Amino acid sequence: MKRYQLRIDGQSVDPAGAAWLESQNPYTGESWAEIPRSDERDVDRAVQAAHRALTQGPWAEMSASQRGMLLHRLGDLIARDAAKLAATEVRDNGKLLAEMLGQLNYIPQWYYYFGGLADKIQGTTLPLDKKGYFAFTRNEPLGVVAAITPWNSPLMLASWKIAPALAAGCTVVVKPSEFTSASTLEFAELFDEAGFPPGVFNVVTGFGGEVGTPLVEHPLVRKISFTGSDSTGRVINEKAARNFKHTAMELGGKSPNIVFADADIDQAVFGAISGIFAATGQTCIAGSRLLVQDSIYDTVVEKLLDVARTARMGDPMDAATQVGPVTTPPQFSKVLEYIAVAREEGATLLLGGERGDAPECGNGWFVQPTIFGDVRNDMRIAQEEVFGPVLSIIRFKDEDEAVAIANDVRFGLAAAVWTSDIGRALRMTERLQAGTVWINTYRAVSFMAPFGGYKDSGLGRENGIDAIREYLQTKCVWINS
Ligand code: NAD
Repeated sequence: MKRYQLRIDGQSVDPAGAAWLESQNPYTGESWAEIPRSDERDVDRAVQAAHRALTQGPWAEMSASQRGMLLHRLGDLIARDAAKLAATEVRDNGKLLAEMLGQLNYIPQWYYYFGGLADKIQGTTLPLDKKGYFAFTRNEPLGVVAAITPWNSPLMLASWKIAPALAAGCTVVVKPSEFTSASTLEFAELFDEAGFPPGVFNVVTGFGGEVGTPLVEHPLVRKISFTGSDSTGRVINEKAARNFKHTAMELGGKSPNIVFADADIDQAVFGAISGIFAATGQTCIAGSRLLVQDSIYDTVVEKLLDVARTARMGDPMDAATQVGPVTTPPQFSKVLEYIAVAREEGATLLLGGERGDAPECGNGWFVQPTIFGDVRNDMRIAQEEVFGPVLSIIRFKDEDEAVAIANDVRFGLAAAVWTSDIGRALRMTERLQAGTVWINTYRAVSFMAPFGGYKDSGLGRENGIDAIREYLQTKCVWINS
């Protein structure tokens, strides 16, 4: 079994406690790698290294253009190693190889984009109201950034934080999910090759309580950029607030996918299927509530079932597989529990609802693609994030009712509207409480498109020009002239 080491201060090192945890392959159920089980001693070493790199030595002295060039080089190295890193992610999280390859091939764009922005961060001179003074602003790096990431798309979601943070001149300590740390540890080795000075990028791995907590509490960490569940986000945000640390929170969702009678129904059905079953439903933007207008309800349900029934579960490395396993045993149990809850609540089970036990499923943690009809929006299945291949279909009469149902959840990450009426699309866009609204499409993201949540789905925005501001602080300089 492969044994990984931590990456701290440009070195591969064993954890202080000489302890490791096993990473399991969700398709085979077998342990395939040993991941360092760090503790507060490793966290302190990593944060101290990041702080040294921030305040002394070559990174602190480097021009913004030089930082940008390093980010470009890193992007090139990720492109070179995309296939290897994607295969590692599949072994760890069970997502389809094609999807992870797509992500890994796209990730370099984050480093090119933010690398290009690094030397375009400019201050301003102020048209002062006081004679005899001159004043200008400088944008300075916020400090050491702790990036805490979940298990569903480890390197993609980490890159949304790392690229703008480094472009801004910060240094970073990443804590990936204990379930999927291997790709982040492999990725960390590329920093040396790209020419980053030691300590600019560090990785500590292990459990949330043992590693995440001391990282969040470390006095030298100035910003915590977190992607994960809203319950963990709340704990972190409360701790950060006590010490006036900055936070960015990318949390959960319960996104509505709204189909009007005037939509292209086949396109909408395709969007609904990919919205919920891609990545086995384990995405924060999953379109887990399908809102369908009364007059087309039966047609949409029939077409959905026709497609979903044929979805092929199996080995995520096999190009023919369409639905992979659930990533972790606790998540597998949670999804099955939610299916039981939905049945008790009176939702009509239209498809699936069981553990996937086809021969192609091997020993994997599979849940059949599951569809519930006649869901009411006040049911738990419509209110809580399942994070699995479970779709709830809800009827609506008209625009007003669609908006009321769509917004009646505590989350607000994303929403989609399927319609051929541009006026309706624009009215809906204005009324939906969500950080991303898609019209006649689902799941599109880009390094240049701001991403983040309304309501309990989070704080701050990732991606796009303004994301770099999340890692900067403004200093105002006064000169008595
Ligand atoms: P999680 O909250 O359980 O864990 C996320 C990370 O936080 C892990 O690295 C974990 O070890 C760490 N952690 C746990 N407790 C901690 C603590 N007390 N202090 C510091 N760190 C701690 O989330 P998960 O189960 O890994 O991921 C699934 C969740 O992530 C879902 O809710 C999903 O919606 C959300 N998510 C959001 C986005 C987004 O961009 N909005 C993207 C992907 C996933």
